[in-house]
Amino acid sequence: MSPTSTSPADLPHTHHAVVATGAGGPEVLEWTQVPVPEPGPGQVLVRTAGVGLNFIDTYRRSGVYPVDFPSVPGTEASGTVVALGEGTDRALLGTRVATAAAQGAYAEHFTADADSLLPVPQGVDLTEAAALPLQGMTAHYLCRSTFPVTEGQTAVVTAGAGGVGLLLTQLAAACGAQVVTAASTEHKRELSRRAGATASVDYADLRATVQELTDGEGAHVVYDGVGKDTFEDSLASLRPRGMLVLFGGASGQVPPFDLQRLNSGGGLFVTRPSLTWYTRTAEETRGRGEELFEAWAAGRLSVRIGERVPLAEAAHAHTLLESRSTTGKVLLTLD
Ligand code: NDP
Repeated sequence: MSPTSTSPADLPHTHHAVVATGAGGPEVLEWTQVPVPEPGPGQVLVRTAGVGLNFIDTYRRSGVYPVDFPSVPGTEASGTVVALGEGTDRALLGTRVATAAAQGAYAEHFTADADSLLPVPQGVDLTEAAALPLQGMTAHYLCRSTFPVTEGQTAVVTAGAGGVGLLLTQLAAACGAQVVTAASTEHKRELSRRAGATASVDYADLRATVQELTDGEGAHVVYDGVGKDTFEDSLASLRPRGMLVLFGGASGQVPPFDLQRLNSGGGLFVTRPSLTWYTRTAEETRGRGEELFEAWAAGRLSVRIGERVPLAEAAHAHTLLESRSTTGKVLLTLD
């Protein structure tokens, strides 16, 4: 079925895209010319303004998460709707949107389910809008739904100056929590404090700092996206019946472990959530996304774009993210 578009004659048949040729290092990402995808039923085609780089893009590229190659990576992007698949609302044509669930976002056009679209409000730059959906909605579900942190509780965030880390710290602090973060350099720790962390320390000092700030009780919750290297310290930072929310493995995946560890640690809880399970309907997705975009437009939420890299140099951007040298969002741009 051929898609409807604002101006069909303007839609090219091919466009530039980054293609992952197989599982491997950043060098498998090639800037090349491929056919423009057609939106399927319930989907739209978007002309890309900005693309968000996320850690999951590196897991898929490296083979940690299985993918069929060759493929165009990327799930987070922003832009203008230029064509509609069957069954979508005509009013979407020409609108400014962003999504955390794009297909093939590392390209000049991408497709996405209409249900995943977040309207980008005036006051937010369309290219920069790609910086918020995935890391923002992740931070939102972690501290509002997975473990809804409340006034007076202590929350720990690892990688406190990362994309999720800076947003999560702001949201948890806005809920009234005392937020303690870990980050690897003083520059990162300073950014984390500015985002609202009561204390931001080196990983080696995290456990002791949490004990000190909670009169030896430990934290109510640890939000840990670093994984393998921090897992033990994260468990040890919890108070009895505290919850470890393990949401990623930037340092590697946590190996299988003995459940008795939870008993000896004080009847602890561990959960391993993903954004997919917290954006199960269009309403849930929009509820989270619209609240975040409104807060950004109103100046209540700061979205740090630490790096801007041309999309054609996505391989370089992956190297930066994996080398721990980035802070906040790495935005891939088309200009
Ligand atoms: P970040 O911007 O946080 O970058 C990763 C950070 O992890 C680094 O800057 C670094 O901070 C820290 N880190 C610690 N050890 C390593 C290591 N060995 N290699 C690389 N980085 C390391 O990335 P994101 O905000 O995109 O993602 C953070 C985590 O959240 C990732 O694990 C990601 O997979 C996960 N995630 C999970 C989601 C979910 O729904 N489950 C959704 C989105 C992200 P420092 O130098 O300060 O240690």
